[in-house]
Amino acid sequence: MRVLAVGAHPDDIEFLCAGTLLKFRNRGDEIFTAVLCNGDKGHYEIGPEELARIRRLEAEEAAKSEKATLVSVGAFPDLEVYADSESRRKVVEIVRQAKPDLILTHHPDDYMCDHSTTGRLVIDASFAASLPNYRTESPHTKSIPPLYFMDALAAVNFQPTDYVDISEFIEEKGKALLCHQSQYRWLLDHDGVDYVDFMKKHSAFRGVQCGVKYAEAFQRYAVWGRIRPGCWLP
Ligand SMILES: [Zn+2]
Repeated sequence: MRVLAVGAHPDDIEFLCAGTLLKFRNRGDEIFTAVLCNGDKGHYEIGPEELARIRRLEAEEAAKSEKATLVSVGAFPDLEVYADSESRRKVVEIVRQAKPDLILTHHPDDYMCDHSTTGRLVIDASFAASLPNYRTESPHTKSIPPLYFMDALAAVNFQPTDYVDISEFIEEKGKALLCHQSQYRWLLDHDGVDYVDFMKKHSAFRGVQCGVKYAEAFQRYAVWGRIRPGCWLP
């Protein structure tokens, strides 16, 4: 199976669904990732151009650690991705390059605009990608894939429908998250938040809910055309 995860910022995938991606990969599935924003606003001291450059490298390193193919990173500056026709076309091309059987992305009601817009764009683009008359560089996909929304940060206001036991992959997930050193250092120095510890607490909380040590939570996008029999998560 081909699995595509689309995050708003360079570290979102590692925080919210990398355990599941590692589990998919471990059973032989192909992993594709895409990051829509370049992360250029995520620091108080490093300027936007330099930060975007650093965060691209960090995203590449994280994808490498997951043995994922990074299809696209940073097509939009932070806080400048909109659910308009030009952006949809870019995301359609991302979907067509990955040709996913399953998509993971943010919920359209997530906590900030880059996340919610990413969710909206991926829903619309993965539908449009299947239509031959909607033209981009790559050919159209064969079907509209099932889609699951990733958890919200700190699990706030997110009602899961499905859980993935990631206990076996929690250390590897932590290492993937640590690839985002600029964010790790920034949050630690300025907010006193240890990012990896935060992620582990979050995963442990979801684990408590489903009776395992560490878990990731998802919500199925249950609309006509996206529903398949059974659970498609590992
Ligand atoms: Zn984010």
